[in-house]
Amino acid sequence: MNASPLVIVGASYAGTQLAASARELGFDAPIVMLGDERHAPYQRPPLSKGVLTGKTTLDSLPLRGADFFDVQGIDLRLGHRATALNTGAQTLTLDDGSILKYGTLALATGARCRPLPVTGSDLEGVFNLRTLDDALRVSDALSKATRACVIGGGFIGLEVASALAARGASVTVVESQPRLLARSFPPLMSEYLANAHRQRNVELVLGRGVRALSGASGRVEHVELDDGRRIDCDMVVLGIGVQPNVELAQQAGVACDNGILTDALGRTSAPNVIAVGDVANTEAPTTPGGPARMRLESIQAANDGARAAASALAGKPQPFEGVPWFWSDQHNLKLQMAGLAMPGDEVIARGDMQTDRFSLFYLREGAVVAAHSVNRPAEHMLSRKLIARRVRIDPQQLSDESFDLKTL
Ligand code: ADP
Repeated sequence: MNASPLVIVGASYAGTQLAASARELGFDAPIVMLGDERHAPYQRPPLSKGVLTGKTTLDSLPLRGADFFDVQGIDLRLGHRATALNTGAQTLTLDDGSILKYGTLALATGARCRPLPVTGSDLEGVFNLRTLDDALRVSDALSKATRACVIGGGFIGLEVASALAARGASVTVVESQPRLLARSFPPLMSEYLANAHRQRNVELVLGRGVRALSGASGRVEHVELDDGRRIDCDMVVLGIGVQPNVELAQQAGVACDNGILTDALGRTSAPNVIAVGDVANTEAPTTPGGPARMRLESIQAANDGARAAASALAGKPQPFEGVPWFWSDQHNLKLQMAGLAMPGDEVIARGDMQTDRFSLFYLREGAVVAAHSVNRPAEHMLSRKLIARRVRIDPQQLSDESFDLKTL
């Protein structure tokens, strides 16, 4: 056995997958995995959905079986933070002052919630939602609350709004952009979702900033908007996006720009330091008109990026060249997204948006580059194949439901 371990900082999807894939591919050096939370790696999607509605039980959350880490020879150390990195000496300092020597260091430090920079954001009753402990706090608060305000109309904000509405709270979402999910969706999809949420008793305030949160005796009671309006509430959930946890890398001089810069195998600018997951800004496979790099915040990207990095560690380098995909559950709507749509893509609808069962396909230079499906899982799976194969298709056939896309 090689004496210098693979040390993985971060114990969520990317870190866990990296360790698992490295072992699968025959990597036999010791592996140490550090996590700053008290929980063993767990599933995150239910935190903004089933954990809040009560449909997901906590015992279903672990990412791996209880004995996985022992069996695989992965030394999982929970409740530990890495505080400093020395890439010359190949050492990592932990918060208890101990120093770990690494052969390879994997930064899988993820991202944290962006803070809301207004007065009152530290009041009681104001919550972030990122970790299991956050979700438990929100769920507990919800059992005593009747009026909730969600700040941010992105994926997390809208999933939380759906869950809170399902638990019977009256919910208002405040989004500073003029439309929902502007970062991920074109206007047509934003409009559809705005109608869908309004029809399901979620009030939306779009294009308005938050000036302050306020309340007597240290508890939040109002969200004050920049037009002077006040929203009464007994709890606030912040869903205004995340920022990558780059500090450890940055302080050690590892190149960063919206995350830690890596190649397609997770390699950073520092020798024997790789980065995977939400913190990594990775070279993307080339698509016509597509981005050169991507920092995707998704489980698929974390897992596939980690598999690629593990392949290099095991001496069998295999970059990920597939299609990115994501999903989001809001009310009774299963949203599934494949590929990356860009402004300027031609948008073709298949199915009637009024029925909550349709797909939007995005064409670039005549080929399908992305698709957003609502309650059409089979079409989503098919769209991933069409995108991967860069299938060129006549827009009329695409919108014609009597035309079987499988023939393509
Ligand atoms: P996530 O996936 O974590 O939900 P997104 O970036 O998809 O993150 O969504 C965050 C949303 O929050 C965006 O729609 C953004 O416009 C919105 N937002 C950011 N800052 C504010 C703010 N101060 N008030 C209201 N909305 C905000």
